[in-house]
Amino acid sequence: MKIQLQNLTKKFPNRNKKAQGDVIAVDHFTYEIPDGKLIGLLGPSGCGKSTTLNLICGLEKPTEGQIFFGDRDVTKLPPEHRGVGMVFQNYALYPHLSVKQNILFPLENFKGEQKLSKSEMLERASQAAGLVQIEDLMDRKPSELSGGQQQRVAIARALVKMPHVLLLDEPLSNLDARLRLQTREEIRKIQRATQITTVFVTHDQEEAMSISDEIVVMKQGVVQQIGKPQEVYDDPVNLFVAKFLGTPPINIFHGKVQNGRLTIGKAAVLPVSGIPDQEVWAGVRPEGFLLQEDGPLSCSLNGVEVMGRDISIVSTHPDCENTLIRAIAGSENGVNTASETVRFALKPGKVFLFDKN
Ligand code: ADP
Repeated sequence: MKIQLQNLTKKFPNRNKKAQGDVIAVDHFTYEIPDGKLIGLLGPSGCGKSTTLNLICGLEKPTEGQIFFGDRDVTKLPPEHRGVGMVFQNYALYPHLSVKQNILFPLENFKGEQKLSKSEMLERASQAAGLVQIEDLMDRKPSELSGGQQQRVAIARALVKMPHVLLLDEPLSNLDARLRLQTREEIRKIQRATQITTVFVTHDQEEAMSISDEIVVMKQGVVQQIGKPQEVYDDPVNLFVAKFLGTPPINIFHGKVQNGRLTIGKAAVLPVSGIPDQEVWAGVRPEGFLLQEDGPLSCSLNGVEVMGRDISIVSTHPDCENTLIRAIAGSENGVNTASETVRFALKPGKVFLFDKN
């Protein structure tokens, strides 16, 4: 089921009594979420991700705009009539119910739908439990489960009604690093197997990049860029998106375009075409530096860290905003660590120029 968001806008009265005007949590968001895909909604805390999810599931009403599931306008429908499964960060399991009762809960208690027979409900619950591999935990209480297992129960409970749309709000943030990786793979597998259109909210760019078919990057309620993770990484539309994606982060230099060349400090580092002379921010991905003895960009060398296949060359430059430049090179590259400087050329496709104004 494709989901269409048209001009979706949500304003809240400002909680800060002294502040003027409303908070615009979501600002004219238009997007067609493709059928059967997993979409990552990404941005810093407070940028409007959860509000967008709450609008899609019907927990919040939009101030403006419409939502369509397929061709059906669901903007005014209450949550229980939308066919949406929702998983929250804190799992929100019922502590006094067993795993099985938790999974059965939406089938037994939701209004507005024809009730299934008991045996149909049990069949569905066991199917959902099978999808997330918790069949052997059905008689336990949530308190007897690990965080990862609780999260699986929450996902099974969201899947049991066979929703058209699955919404996941920071579902991994309460898990430790190892479980987070494992559970994210499992969510991906379940989504591929069920082909349920899924929206996954996270502030963690690596998580969004690794799991999503498309990512939506938001800032202060406004969508900045939508695209396949690699496309957004390779072609960020603005400085915010460039800075938000990538580990280690992009390096930002004060630069100038002069006579068709990008200049950092006094060094002309790269030919550029079609840009008039002006001051620019030059973002260089860590893999955009090329070690070169006579390279135009001279940086102070702080050290070299070996990271398996790659080395990370840690350096500084007076025109770089980042306190440390992190340049990645293959481990076959030797760097003379006794040297005080290291010289780089820049790879054109890994350098992005943004207006300074
Ligand atoms: P995110 O999920 O990206 O962290 P939210 O969608 O929770 O962001 O919030 C977006 C903005 O809307 C924030 O400024 C937040 O303070 C505000 N907001 C969210 N819910 C409410 C509410 N019920 N009342 C007032 N302001 C709210």
